[in-house]
Amino acid sequence: MIVGLPKEIKKQEYRVALTPAGCEMIVKQGQEVIVERGAGECSGFPDSEYEAAGARMVDEAAEVWAAAELIVKVKEPVAEEFGYFREGQILFTYLHLAAAPDLARVLTERQVTAIAYETIQAPNGSLPLLTPMSEVAGRMSVQEGAKFLEAFQGGRGVLLGGVPGVPPAEVIVIGGGIVGTNAAKMALGLGAEVVVLEKSADRMRYLDDVFQGRIRTLTSNPYNIANAVRRADLLIGAVLVPGARAPRLVTEEMVKSMKKGAVIVDVAVDQGGSIETIDRPTTHENPIYEKHGVIHYAVANMPGAVPRTSTLALTNVTIDYILQLSASGFQETIMSNPMLAFGVNAYRGAITHPRVAEAVGAPF
Ligand code: NAD
Repeated sequence: MIVGLPKEIKKQEYRVALTPAGCEMIVKQGQEVIVERGAGECSGFPDSEYEAAGARMVDEAAEVWAAAELIVKVKEPVAEEFGYFREGQILFTYLHLAAAPDLARVLTERQVTAIAYETIQAPNGSLPLLTPMSEVAGRMSVQEGAKFLEAFQGGRGVLLGGVPGVPPAEVIVIGGGIVGTNAAKMALGLGAEVVVLEKSADRMRYLDDVFQGRIRTLTSNPYNIANAVRRADLLIGAVLVPGARAPRLVTEEMVKSMKKGAVIVDVAVDQGGSIETIDRPTTHENPIYEKHGVIHYAVANMPGAVPRTSTLALTNVTIDYILQLSASGFQETIMSNPMLAFGVNAYRGAITHPRVAEAVGAPF
């Protein structure tokens, strides 16, 4: 099978779907890889590394799409790419089709087999191809929060870890899943006082065990949230209710009660946000705004700021699927890999994922 790697063209997307290491694994398996020149540049992978790994380099995206039976990407195709779709071609990428009915329609019209990273599901219900990006965003939330706490960024001029004789900052994390756990780990590592508010008692038991009492856990309810938010130097929103909009757990009144120059990083902004005063996502170019004296950070694609780390983290979890698909073909892979079967969103002219079909109104 020929595996194709086009350069990402969506605005502010610097990741790439295959590293030279992954390329080498596919080539060693006896398949061909065709790469658009410059595809890995923004992630720090020059063309020469793909060439050395055995890829065939081409100048135009159109050549990749025309030749490849399996296209690997990071983000959903944008309108300029729709014209490249071919019947029977397999597309493996983050698709988020529920929010993109136009793309869903074109994929069905062109009979593309589309497999979405975000709906690949493990038997315990977890989404293994989303996990690495939550790890990145969780760790980044503390780094960004620490930066915007600095006085010249508008923050209250507090160092997260304090110094001997000066108390550390208080970091409040709401939601103790992947994002929240990674945020807590970073904040703790920098010497902050960390409190995680969670809904799930089992998750709090887990956090208490792994952090061995070095962070505090608190049941998430409006009373506890209001008290914790008031004390926060850095507040991190990290909740998720699968398949639903993020619950608005921090009200505007609570934000008004916060210290002047405190910072909110709402990682859950991509699901609508968990803070009432976060009414819009921000961008890496313009990541913050101030409201009620509090700095609000609401970037919806945080991993985009660290494309090299994010690319490596993403491709670590996608490569086995790419190897299997390219070696065994679609039918055999789907029969033997039920996790990947959950990822199939479009096949032979139909939207095959029930929730996606409902969201986009398919069949068309
Ligand atoms: P997760 O499922 O691992 O964790 C979510 C946690 O929230 C769970 O432990 C759940 O019990 C908890 N929760 C649910 N309702 C709660 C409540 N009322 N109070 C307290 N806790 C509650 O999800 P995750 O992977 O950690 O993702 C968290 C959020 O971050 C999601 O919205 C995800 O889309 C988002 N995210 C954003 C970016 C970005 O760049 N902004 C990147 C990755 C993930």
